[in-house]
Amino acid sequence: MSSATLDQPLSVDYILGRLGRAAERVGRDLSFMEVCGTHTVHAFRSGLHSLMPENVKLLSGPGCPVCVTSQGDIDLLIELGSRRGVTLCTYGDMIRVTGSAGQSLELARMNGADVRVVYSAMDAVKLAASDKKRQVVFAAVGFETTAPATAAAILAASKLRLTNFTALASHKLVVPAMLGLLATRRVNIDGFLCPGHVAVVVGAKAFAPIVERYGLPCVVGGFEANQIAAALARLVEMVAHGECGLENLYPQAVTDDGNATARAVLEEVFAPATVTWRALGEIPDSGLGIRPFYRLFDAKVRFGLKAVEVPEPPGCRCGDVITAQATPGDCKLFGRACTPVDPIGPCMVSSEGTCQAWFKYRRHGKPVRVASSRKPMGVGA
Ligand code: SF4
Repeated sequence: MSSATLDQPLSVDYILGRLGRAAERVGRDLSFMEVCGTHTVHAFRSGLHSLMPENVKLLSGPGCPVCVTSQGDIDLLIELGSRRGVTLCTYGDMIRVTGSAGQSLELARMNGADVRVVYSAMDAVKLAASDKKRQVVFAAVGFETTAPATAAAILAASKLRLTNFTALASHKLVVPAMLGLLATRRVNIDGFLCPGHVAVVVGAKAFAPIVERYGLPCVVGGFEANQIAAALARLVEMVAHGECGLENLYPQAVTDDGNATARAVLEEVFAPATVTWRALGEIPDSGLGIRPFYRLFDAKVRFGLKAVEVPEPPGCRCGDVITAQATPGDCKLFGRACTPVDPIGPCMVSSEGTCQAWFKYRRHGKPVRVASSRKPMGVGA
């Protein structure tokens, strides 16, 4: 694996110059995909889309953890959170996601359910330890970035011998989803901008199967506008030179093999599991199931739960949006019936969703530059 010279902090102008020259050399339309809600938001918020060469597009794939959660899993979560005697702890983004019957955790809370927003899985463990009369369930959603914290929480609950803490595990793995998406042959792309924070945990080498099996260049990138532009420039340069490789342009945080401690904790608590993704359906070994040794902390086992898959809300095209088959602008509900204040699908609910990013930064056609550098709150891809 190589780290190109673009891993150094360089000006956006210089990087865009390289990007433009390489794009001109290729001389055809190019599409690259990012699979990370943070890349989605930062690319739109910085106005990067409007600065890119006409023939280069950056598409958003299944990288927003709330958006890829299947409708069946969302229904399960809301049903469990509405039960008497259960305290449901969740990250903020999940609370407004709508179930198939129009319900949500927010509505359940208004009707008296004990639903609490937490900032970490360990907050839920502390809550369980402080009130043993309640069954505390942690809604464990997210990719490899949040899964180690869930694993650490289960280990802590085990050490404390808590009998009133469980996790409803819906964690998903990014690389199997990228491979699953390519296997559907529904996307026609020239390479992937790989998520830097997932790579911090799994290591840059984890993306090698995409290069080897599909011959698509992959570049691991950071999240500032110049880092995203640099990753895109390298992708276009690779296409221009007929190369296909895996490069790490985020070496400040990402190593070849990832974070050994986080991976060990994941390995201890979770096993790869076949899970259902919105729009992509079941993908083998694309999620994390709690190992039998820790089944006492598995909400599905404790409460005898099984997800039943149901269609998306009528008219909502989130499934098409997260697989780059449609843009939010193609959805008839976008900006009319569906807005961040009154969202219909998870892509508008989540601060990392493509629909919400479009609404905030691109609603009137061209992407706009927004000065704010505030980080969005979310599950974290
Ligand atoms: Fe779904 Fe709303 Fe996005 Fe349309 S605009 S795809 S209804 S989230």
